[in-house]
Amino acid sequence: MKKFNHLKASVFGFNFVLLQRFFKKVMEVVKTVTELREKLSAVRKDGKKVGFVPTMGALHNGHLSLVKRCVSENDVCVVSVFVNPTQFNDKNDLLKYPRTVDADVKVLASAGCSFAFVPEVEDIYPEEDTRVFDFGKVDKVMEGKYRPGHFNGVAQVVSRLFDIVEPDRAYFGEKDFQQIAVIRAMVAQLGYNVEIVACPIVREADGLALSSRNARLSDEQRKLAVKISETLFKSRTFADQNSVADTISFVTDTLNGISGLQVEYYEIVDGNTLQPIRSWNETSYAVGCITVYCGDVRLIDNIKY
Ligand code: AMP
Repeated sequence: MKKFNHLKASVFGFNFVLLQRFFKKVMEVVKTVTELREKLSAVRKDGKKVGFVPTMGALHNGHLSLVKRCVSENDVCVVSVFVNPTQFNDKNDLLKYPRTVDADVKVLASAGCSFAFVPEVEDIYPEEDTRVFDFGKVDKVMEGKYRPGHFNGVAQVVSRLFDIVEPDRAYFGEKDFQQIAVIRAMVAQLGYNVEIVACPIVREADGLALSSRNARLSDEQRKLAVKISETLFKSRTFADQNSVADTISFVTDTLNGISGLQVEYYEIVDGNTLQPIRSWNETSYAVGCITVYCGDVRLIDNIKY
């Protein structure tokens, strides 16, 4: 009898785990805007908080840090996997962008995501999006200057996704430091009722910032790419005794001195306004933002001073 009870308990225990998995953990893959809207309106009727992580897929631990935070802070976590064509000013970059949807969906399911939203371009843009945004000074410098139209495309897709998901909170990585400022400006301008949560950069053990583009680096390039974060970290010590201009030169000259790396820009800016600073006294929140070509792979990173 005792033996039987034990069996019953373990059977119930097993069922309980299964039930829990079924009701709480099973992720749904949603492919259309209509379907996602239906599912989320049901969720919202229950008064649940919806968190949202927009991504372009080829997911790595950087993305997953956002997803895990979103899962822990909300009742429902929606992650979009959508390579947005309107934010690529270089069509070759768009063509070469890594796409690993099947693997992404598996990773999201095990991270506790509730809905993986994997739409087609035609569903996000049934008609061409001709909106032109102006976010003042934040989108005119750095990425905005070197990738004309990039942030306009980002604002187009994020606003479109916000309209569909209507999240309570949305999670963005500080790796794309300027993007967060642009998104905040967009939220203010378009009047979205969403909390923007900025998450710290996740790095490889040797310091290289995780990026979907790292997959395109050859073994040789991978060894060079680590010099970017290494130099940024060193520049922190350098900055203690040197001016902003000299710190910029230190970073740019060090990296350009390495064959195979080419700095596109290195700017030290006020972390709130994104405007370049000339002296350390101008702000208590100085951030250095860099873009470096490693062969034809464009890598970005940043560091707080
Ligand atoms: P992406 O798929 O490149 O558009 O990135 C989706 C989101 O993940 C953006 O908010 C990125 O800033 C964020 N992200 C990408 N790489 C990292 C990283 N290494 N650490 C933290 N967040 C990241």
